Amino acid sequence: MGRKLMTILLVLSLTLAGCVLPGKKRQQYQAAYLDVFDTVTSISAVSDSEDVFREQAEQIHSQLLEYHRLFDIYNDYEGMNNLKTVNDSAGAAPVAVDGEIIRLLKDCRDYYELTGHAVNVAMGGVLFLWHEARTAGLEDPDHARLPEEAALREAAAHTDWASVEIDEEAGTVYLSDPRLRLDVGAVAKGWSAQRAAEKAPEGFLISVGGNVCATGPKDGSGTPWVVGITDPDGGEGYLHTLYDTDSAIVTSGDYQRYYEVDGKRFHHIIDPQTLYPAERFRSVTVICGDSGLADALSTALFILPQPEGEALAKKCGAEAMWLDTEGNRFYTDGFEDWICQ
Ligand code: ADP
Ligand code: MG
Repeated sequence: MGRKLMTILLVLSLTLAGCVLPGKKRQQYQAAYLDVFDTVTSISAVSDSEDVFREQAEQIHSQLLEYHRLFDIYNDYEGMNNLKTVNDSAGAAPVAVDGEIIRLLKDCRDYYELTGHAVNVAMGGVLFLWHEARTAGLEDPDHARLPEEAALREAAAHTDWASVEIDEEAGTVYLSDPRLRLDVGAVAKGWSAQRAAEKAPEGFLISVGGNVCATGPKDGSGTPWVVGITDPDGGEGYLHTLYDTDSAIVTSGDYQRYYEVDGKRFHHIIDPQTLYPAERFRSVTVICGDSGLADALSTALFILPQPEGEALAKKCGAEAMWLDTEGNRFYTDGFEDWICQ
């Protein structure tokens, strides 16, 4: 995660080098925040006033912060029912929630169907076991262990969307299976970035943990933003840099969050079929008009066989690039139109 972010920040700071545009006093500004979705958020725009930019960036930031609280499954916030409240009330009672939670969960249900069940945010029980094992393994690497196979199987028996009862009229969500848990980590950053981008002024680049979303070219003459795709093997290099004016660019990779057990890396994208980390790819990048969909697709394409993923990308009007574990690269037909380098 950190590395991906650093990469994007680096590209942003490179574009900052020539920040004063000829003949004008307009300048590129950037604001970074560390308190949203446990990752780095950066907001950039060209503006003729730093004060105006700061205020606009702060508005975007506070909207993202609100989503962070609503979609948090680990912390309670005073005066607010969030997804933790929904999880804690599983099997007990419907929970009155903010309309944005309902909107997100309906989209998640669509992503579940669209991706042939590869992306299932109702798989929170399984993801929780991996989260626990990873956290413990990172704290005490000598005793790092995998989740118990039996526990994974048991949790996987409680991931059915029929038990996620969304009542739009009442404004409630009820998990009728007491063992089911929601975890929207696969889509929350991209989905929230999309909502923020829809409200943001034109010409902003919003990156939430590397889920990048542009709201127009970065200046009046149509100059595109440049976004780097991290090389999973590190170093300063990128797999590519891409031009972006008004699309979302989202990457899922095995290098973002992982731990090691007996020298083998176990990352955080879990194949619902095997209940273990998906092993086909090192990194998948998706370009798409909607950042929420791009985030769901990046996770799905990381899990699915490449031809299936390619068909799905096509169906969604998205472009994608895959890097497999042997270093082979695959591209959808239109991806190259976006490549800067
Ligand atoms: P990142 O959050 O690092 O950008 P992703 O968008 O691919 O990466 O999302 C990974 C997160 O999504 C994991 O931390 C986990 O909480 C969740 N997740 C992993 N596998 C799945 C899956 N098959 N379906 C739904 N959520 C998943
Ligand atoms: Mg994702």
